[in-house]
Amino acid sequence: MFFPEYRGRRLRRNHNLRRMVRETHLRVDDLIYPMFSAFGERIKKEIPSMPGIYQQSIDNIVAEAQEVHALGIPAVILFGIPECKDPLGQDAYDDEGIIQRTVRAIKEAVPELTVITDVCMCEYTDHGHCGVIREGDVDNDETLKLLAAEALSHARAGADIVAPSDMMDGRVAAIREILDANGFSDIPVMSYAVKYASAYYGPFRDAADSTPQFGDRRSYQMDPANRIEAFREAALDVQECADFLMVKPALAYLDIIRDIKDRFDLPLVCYNVSGEYSMIKAAAEKGWIDEDRVVMETLVGMKRAGADLIITYHAKQAAKLLGA
Ligand SMILES: [Zn+2]
Repeated sequence: MFFPEYRGRRLRRNHNLRRMVRETHLRVDDLIYPMFSAFGERIKKEIPSMPGIYQQSIDNIVAEAQEVHALGIPAVILFGIPECKDPLGQDAYDDEGIIQRTVRAIKEAVPELTVITDVCMCEYTDHGHCGVIREGDVDNDETLKLLAAEALSHARAGADIVAPSDMMDGRVAAIREILDANGFSDIPVMSYAVKYASAYYGPFRDAADSTPQFGDRRSYQMDPANRIEAFREAALDVQECADFLMVKPALAYLDIIRDIKDRFDLPLVCYNVSGEYSMIKAAAEKGWIDEDRVVMETLVGMKRAGADLIITYHAKQAAKLLGA
């Protein structure tokens, strides 16, 4: 095929032709909406670095869950901000903890909405790390017991999927084992298999009040420079019976999303993280970009890279644009 006989522009001439040859489609079915559940009543506190995203008490989170369901979005993922934090993050695995109560309230009000729970310790520990601290670092094997207890407690509350985000070694197997032993063999594990130590998480830490009080998370989250290591991480989680794999963040890691999609046959999720959201929101506020178009281009780019599902703070906006 050579010019002038071949002309690529022939298939781009009008809207219908472009529709007919479009290779990638973003659908509302692909979207998962993250929400932050806070202790108290009638609380709706906007996160300064994330316009349109709130820390909310259960009454308000249930109302938003109904809105999300009405927009056709199939699932939400929940993060909790407990009343009290302590070194062992006890609210995380308390059957009356913030997430457990939130899950019960949402499942009662909107039973058709799939509720995914984030399973980690950093929102619940006073030191802000993702597990138990021993000698200045997170103790992997001790943390596994707490993560398993947390996942079980979420399942008991009615969670449809549990999503461990801690990056401890062996956690998928530990969670699978405790769920199976307690009659929850039908609850899938969505593993944050490939999670990088990223500066793009900055605004989330305001949202979840989970900034580490000392050090950072580089002893358990991955080095952004590494690609081959992502295959090892994903392969381990497949062996441990994960049902979904996740790559987090998304925008600076589209190559990793493609690599994981090509090598593994599990459904692949990417997390369009807080910093990615904040950058678009800030540029749009300044009038520098067309927000709607940049949002849709960003999300379709993640699908084109290989993501089957996208966790995104833009989910409601994207659902409205897809329905328009
Ligand atoms: Zn964490």
